[in-house]
Amino acid sequence: MCHCQANGSIEARRWDPERVDGGGWVGIVRTVLGKLPKRFATGEPREQKEREVKRMKSVAVVGAMLLMVCPLVTADVTVGYLGHSCFTVQAEGGLLILIDPYADYLPYPGLPTTADVVLITHGHIDHCAHCYGQKDRVEGDPTVVWPFGTDGRVREGSWKIIEGLSVRFVEATHVTASGGGQGSVCLFSFVQDGIRFAHLGDLGRTLSEAQIAALGDVQVLLIPVGGAYTIDAAEAIAVVKQLPSVRVVIPMHYYVEGYCPWPDIAPVDGFLDLAIAEGWTVRESEVAELSLSAESLPDQAEVWTMTFAEK
Ligand SMILES: [Zn+2]
Ligand SMILES: [Zn+2]
Repeated sequence: MCHCQANGSIEARRWDPERVDGGGWVGIVRTVLGKLPKRFATGEPREQKEREVKRMKSVAVVGAMLLMVCPLVTADVTVGYLGHSCFTVQAEGGLLILIDPYADYLPYPGLPTTADVVLITHGHIDHCAHCYGQKDRVEGDPTVVWPFGTDGRVREGSWKIIEGLSVRFVEATHVTASGGGQGSVCLFSFVQDGIRFAHLGDLGRTLSEAQIAALGDVQVLLIPVGGAYTIDAAEAIAVVKQLPSVRVVIPMHYYVEGYCPWPDIAPVDGFLDLAIAEGWTVRESEVAELSLSAESLPDQAEVWTMTFAEK
């Protein structure tokens, strides 16, 4: 069963695209009419995999986590997790950037929320509330960024979205090695307060050399790990290795009982086990918000899990 039935429509507006990499494209964001998705039956809950490896557990206090990393820093950028592939990124006093707000078919409790800018990696129900007539899932009259052109391809390049935010758009396939997923996704890469973030949407394969170059020196990586419709845990490990500048890896798009409707997506544990096998530090936090500064990032890649926001 595919979790992604239709590329939907968005009412994207007010984004007056301006290239910042010397390219020539100028236009307006397209509104695409789409079909409403079918409802999906939820399968039997997957048994929680027995954990074979004890992991470091850092609980509840963001400050404590930062102190473990570096005791003398000021937190500058807040990363919020709203479940599945939905995150907020906000520098102190800066724009509230929301990525991949899901429709209410996914019962994660993080939405509605406010935003200044909404970045949408592709038009599937678990990434684009706007594509399913649910723009009220995002409040605050945000600028909504739909990265596909009228030809259905990602408008690759670096774009000034609004003052204070330029974003690189990188096209990637959604189709996995086993044929899961469909179409294309846009990978986003942007800098806030000196930290380059990348959100890999529903990436279906490991990265090409061109994609690696286009993403740039990513330090905080939001990456799907659950397989079925995206790269799986082993491929996600390979992607992290493709980006040697990465310091913090935050997994997303994995099965969470009661919230993720698709049990063929694996839970996060398999990815965490592989990360530990690589010798990487894994920090399982029970926070929905992390504060980061460029100086506070660990020297080597670490995996930090987050708990989605409850309201
Ligand atoms: Zn998708
Ligand atoms: Zn998805």
